[in-house]
Amino acid sequence: MSNETLTIALSKGRIYKDTLPLLAAAGITPVDDPETSRKLILDTNQPDVKLVVIRASDVPTYVQYGAADLGVSGKDVLMEHGGEGIYEPLDLRIARCKLMVAGRPGATETPGRLRVATKFVNTTRHYYAGKGRQVEIIKLYGSMELAPIVGLADCIVDLVDTGNTLRANGLVPLEHIADISSRLVVNKASMKMKSARMKALIQHLGEAVDRAASAT
Ligand code: AMP
Repeated sequence: MSNETLTIALSKGRIYKDTLPLLAAAGITPVDDPETSRKLILDTNQPDVKLVVIRASDVPTYVQYGAADLGVSGKDVLMEHGGEGIYEPLDLRIARCKLMVAGRPGATETPGRLRVATKFVNTTRHYYAGKGRQVEIIKLYGSMELAPIVGLADCIVDLVDTGNTLRANGLVPLEHIADISSRLVVNKASMKMKSARMKALIQHLGEAVDRAASAT
């Protein structure tokens, strides 16, 4: 992307929907709708601001390598990525939930090596290393709740919002790992090279977040 353009990486769905009002408050509105458009680079009302709409787990990578100057990424995704090359200047306080260990009641009380199914492999490894507990991590890409039911794992590490998905599958939250929300992330080099524009945008987004928080 050219040096004059600011590129913001977003993922479709919840993050896109919740970020739009914050961007609008900062004077940025997309011209195309990613839900209907097949374009991967969306124009905005500002000729020098573009949006790239990509998979949630790819956002930190785009920002790390400077393919996007800024991005909006869940803390769960950032923890899993590790955050190399990235600053995290702002908690946008959207898409909030908790990263938890869940399973059948008492599932983690069994002695010995625990089998944990998750898509958050790195975060889960760090968490249990911190507790000094031996675990076998089974990588899954979705429907983690199924794993304890069919005996694939003793427990899961997954995002929990209302807890309805766990309840519907006879599972309970067992341990809290982290509070999750979406964060504004920025490329470290862009922060230096496009400092004035980046700082102005971060400030406007920060003010929009504060206004949204005081309205609730
Ligand atoms: P809930 O039934 O409301 O507890 O939601 C749990 C399901 O929604 C799980 O499959 C989670 O992976 C997913 N989920 C909940 N919150 C979020 C979030 N903020 N971002 C992405 N996925 C989420």
